[in-house]
Amino acid sequence: MDSLERFAASYIDGEFGGGGPALTLVNPSDGAPVHELRTADADDVDAAVRAAATSQLAWMRRTPAERAAALHRWADLILEHADELARLDVLSVGRALRDARPEARMIAAVPRYWAGMTDKILGQQIPAVNGHLSFVTREPLGVIGIILPWNGPLGAFVEKVSVAIACGNSVVVKPSEYSPLSALRLAELAVQSGMPRGLISVLVGGGDVGGLVANHAEIMGITFTGSVATGRRIAHAAADRFARTTLELGGKSANVVFADADLDAAVRGTTWGVFYNAGQVCCSGTRLLVHEDIQDVFVAELLARMSRVRVGDPLDESNHIGPVVSARQFAQITGLLERAEGDGATIVRSASNGSGRTPSGYYCDPTVVLDADTSSEVAQREIFGPVLTVIPFRTEQDALEIANGVEYGLAAKVWTRDLGRMLRMAHQLEAGSIWGNTAQVASPALPFGGFKASGSGTSSGQIAVDGVTRAKAVSLRYAEDAPTPGWDDIIDTNHDL
Ligand code: NAD
Repeated sequence: MDSLERFAASYIDGEFGGGGPALTLVNPSDGAPVHELRTADADDVDAAVRAAATSQLAWMRRTPAERAAALHRWADLILEHADELARLDVLSVGRALRDARPEARMIAAVPRYWAGMTDKILGQQIPAVNGHLSFVTREPLGVIGIILPWNGPLGAFVEKVSVAIACGNSVVVKPSEYSPLSALRLAELAVQSGMPRGLISVLVGGGDVGGLVANHAEIMGITFTGSVATGRRIAHAAADRFARTTLELGGKSANVVFADADLDAAVRGTTWGVFYNAGQVCCSGTRLLVHEDIQDVFVAELLARMSRVRVGDPLDESNHIGPVVSARQFAQITGLLERAEGDGATIVRSASNGSGRTPSGYYCDPTVVLDADTSSEVAQREIFGPVLTVIPFRTEQDALEIANGVEYGLAAKVWTRDLGRMLRMAHQLEAGSIWGNTAQVASPALPFGGFKASGSGTSSGQIAVDGVTRAKAVSLRYAEDAPTPGWDDIIDTNHDL
């Protein structure tokens, strides 16, 4: 890995700099400080937006093929530096290297997908009025503010930035205060790939810097990924100036297992789908809705598999999951489990079995919660840790009502061999992504967005173009006999024009 010293501050207009207070990054594996950076202040945010506005004009002067070529070069550089990028996230957020490295390679597919889209940001020709040619064009919004969480820093950055710049925008990115490093490196690689300096600036800092971005008068599109509470604040800030928002927020996704399911596949998908990345995944299947006839056998097998999930040093590739991101997150998870236990729930924790754990690291063992009421906190609130709440059900209708009975609507999984039931569930589940007999299927070509409090809009799939462009309707009268608007009775008949 290149030295961290270079990442001393924000990356604005192709240079590292910034004048805000210092931010110390802590390694979640042992709680020790690993690096210090300067955060951005209001002048830095203004400078980044100005540079972005200038670069956007330069970017739009390039042909779609030239923009596509730059996106492809960026993808090549991401592949070339996949190990380094993955290690930056392991260091700052404790992601397991065994996942972070393949993911760093996989995300190169995202700029490639959007490179293919640069000459397909299509408008429409609409036969609206006789004698007129009416067409609709798609224009970039201009400068897009992107505010990101810490749980999948590389993937979130590449996904949100790729769609915005492929559609002709420039971006000012505010990564999480826990994970600025990979964002800074990705922005540097973008300049190396031939994108204009300033097309992608990265602002280091916390919620105060995010607030400056969300409220900036020159930013007419905000792409936010994070918690419901912050999403709500950002939506209010954006509404004041009618800026476009794409909000990808939290979840409490149901994982519904019917008695006729392929139980081996279901238990495998359930275990991975909730404990992967120490449960710090927005679309984790955190509520297991299991048919009461198979509850005992299913939970027994689940606990057996859970005990084989190795939690330890994220750099040791024999471990499946590392620590959670911060002492704060650790305290939130343990506090919530204590309250659940106090309310009568049964808590089953996996025995610690990973390697290289230090006592000062923020390690949470995979946990299953049984006997919790469906209306209780542990069954309703997003935990963002390796915690699965088990809820039995009797009928398909019960399963549906429990699944939909939360404020969120991000994703749902259904396991059954009955195709009719699968389709009924897919139709009635209130969630933006449904996975049937599988878990967390993701692709740059597929939309991924939430219903209800899980947000609105998406940054992936072709439909994501709507979030970062605006439509312009152009109508041109070409037929001389097509009527022109005006009052006939005020024409001066004695005067030839
Ligand atoms: P968070 O809302 O605390 O922070 C997200 C980002 O917003 C950070 O960069 C933070 O600095 C910034 N921020 C905080 N306060 C702000 C303010 N007032 N104005 C502007 N910006 C502000 O979320 P988090 O803890 O970083 O991330 C975890 C959450 O993100 C979970 O709820 C998770 O479900 C959600 N998430 C959703 C998706 C999705 O695609 N739906 C993906 C990943 C994470």
